[in-house]
Amino acid sequence: MLGLMQDYPLLTNTILDHGALNHGERELVTRSVEGPIRRSTLADLRSRSLKVAKALELEGVKLGDRIATMAWNTERHMEAWFGIMGNGAICHTLNPRLFAEQLDYIVNHAEDDIMFVDLTFMPIVEALKDRFSTVRKYIVLTDAEHMPETSLPGAVAYEDWIGAVDDDFQWKTFDENTAAALCYTSGTTGNPKGVLYSHRSNVLHGLTVNQPDVFGLTSEDVILAIVPMFHANAWALTYAVPAAGAKMIMPGAGMDGESIYELLDSEKVTATAAVPTVWLGLLQYLEETGKKLPYLNRVVVGGAACPPMMIRKFELDYGVELIHGWGMTEMSPVGSVGKMKHATSSLDREAQLKLKEKQGRSPYMVEMKIVDDDGGDLPRDGSSFGHLLVKGPAVSKGYYRIDEQVLTDDGWFDTGDIATIDPLGFMQITDRDKDVIKSGGEWISSIEIENVAVGCQGVTEAAVIGLPHPKWSERPLLIVVRDPGSEISAEEILAYLDGKIAKWWMPDDVQFVDEIPHTATGKIQKMDLRDTFKDYVFKT
Ligand code: ADP
Repeated sequence: MLGLMQDYPLLTNTILDHGALNHGERELVTRSVEGPIRRSTLADLRSRSLKVAKALELEGVKLGDRIATMAWNTERHMEAWFGIMGNGAICHTLNPRLFAEQLDYIVNHAEDDIMFVDLTFMPIVEALKDRFSTVRKYIVLTDAEHMPETSLPGAVAYEDWIGAVDDDFQWKTFDENTAAALCYTSGTTGNPKGVLYSHRSNVLHGLTVNQPDVFGLTSEDVILAIVPMFHANAWALTYAVPAAGAKMIMPGAGMDGESIYELLDSEKVTATAAVPTVWLGLLQYLEETGKKLPYLNRVVVGGAACPPMMIRKFELDYGVELIHGWGMTEMSPVGSVGKMKHATSSLDREAQLKLKEKQGRSPYMVEMKIVDDDGGDLPRDGSSFGHLLVKGPAVSKGYYRIDEQVLTDDGWFDTGDIATIDPLGFMQITDRDKDVIKSGGEWISSIEIENVAVGCQGVTEAAVIGLPHPKWSERPLLIVVRDPGSEISAEEILAYLDGKIAKWWMPDDVQFVDEIPHTATGKIQKMDLRDTFKDYVFKT
């Protein structure tokens, strides 16, 4: 027997409609790519998204067409995002930091029809336009005054383009499982793979991250959404914010410490989210200027392991709750967050700070477990570690136009991460499975050694890789970028690590480099490092 409840498809426009109707006055503030701060509201966002949908209709865009965006977080990008989805097309966010070959591959693989592009990224797109064979029109996210001369086919200034239509448009309706958005993972090995979100998965994920023990946004909040819309779905903030009726601040291209601070302060931001590198920039700026963060009450850090010193600085020096999160593009992307819970309230401050180093617990709608190499379940004892598998309504079951089985036979997605889960449900990532170091039959966590090493004065960045060893099969090599002017030695760094990590985890050597290579999403390219050091031989 079926229930007698209404058929209400979970379409992304329902969130926008809700925000505009119930919190229409709530502001959307953008540091524009052109320079000045621009202000609009949730009501404007809806009205202008409807214009985008209508203008796309006039361009002949059909259900399921891929419409690309290469843009910073701005209100215009949000309008394009909701307009594309509300028209039934698929919003394909492009990461401008990818290599030209990757962008070429992605745009052609997705067969993008129209592309929205920010002024900043026009040189990238102009250089590749002849290779983007399916793209017939470019909409430049600016107004007539700032529109440059360009060789892009069909180029038009966004404000002129939507200015030609009104907002009298009905969102399209279709099944909630219809594709809404496409985002390619950076593909450290092989070609990038397209993660295809549905309307339903996006709406549910927006609600997932809005739970009180996750980001817990309310209509009182002011959110600075730093995590890019072009990387991992902006951690679902684009949905969570209109659903909550919060005020949203978009940093545009200003990702440096000073620009971020300015917005935190002038807009009285209460909550924000970004990867650790952005926070390093902010913390450095705060230290140099002696400025404080009086309005901010929580900061979400994820995308890469949050260094312990960052947790202490935010919590102890600035009185801001740090929430360490983990996830991946394939999970829409939030998989876990390290909010304290009832059972941890009896822990002392030091133990709580230590617990925050873990990647946290799964919210409702994300299931996780760890398994051994044969797929056997491992206990949640905090010490057994294995492959981290996940399940949920916003977790991928396949990749766009790739015909391969992605899930295990019993329906789990293998994240490629190695983790422990403790009895309270807190998960800790120890490594990527391809970066794990196997020494004498035991596993060494490269992430944990890196976390400790960056706490050493004089160390800017650290990476640990496993290299062949005649006796132990593999041993860790620590690779370090020194602070400018620092002459810290290998011995001094090893002495610093001594006692902070297990004896047999101690790197066999330290090598110094000027730069550690990163992927387009800011992760250390361990494959490249292993290649650079392939002829290195341990002395011991
Ligand atoms: P890409 O592969 O495109 O960079 P993602 O951003 O989806 O894509 O990367 C997801 C991976 O990032 C995770 O599987 C995990 O290895 C790593 N990661 C994300 N958050 C954390 C974190 N808090 N700590 C450690 N690793 C993390």
